[in-house]
Amino acid sequence: MKFHITNAKPKNRTRVKILTKWALKYLIGERRCKNIKVSINFCTLDHKRDDGRCTWDFNKTLSKKELDKSILHECVHVMQFYSGKLSQDIRSGEFRWNGKIFPIKSNTYDAYKKLPWEKEAYTYQKILYKKMKKELQ
Ligand SMILES: [Zn+2]
Repeated sequence: MKFHITNAKPKNRTRVKILTKWALKYLIGERRCKNIKVSINFCTLDHKRDDGRCTWDFNKTLSKKELDKSILHECVHVMQFYSGKLSQDIRSGEFRWNGKIFPIKSNTYDAYKKLPWEKEAYTYQKILYKKMKKELQ
């Protein structure tokens, strides 16, 4: 696994690497992790954006717990993209979920939370967080 991390405090840099490696090993398997590249930028935005190319923007002011949860959430999206369950047309920006085009009708936070891949990511993120608390500190 390769990392490109920008604007991170040393402790956050270390945390992102440890947790991403742990989660992706569990989600997609150690062997498959080898050819994954993850780019992470710590920024001052008040939201994070996922674009499926493993480019994550994490808010600089996130607490340790929030950062951990965000990392795990994004790892679920990596798994969804990796398995082909979720894909995005680079030209049109359209998402496909389980092979079907999934139109995004609105940009509100409510609509975002209802997207099937976000629902799944939130569910798995909780499970992973509990598992991580037991296995990793
Ligand atoms: Zn998400």
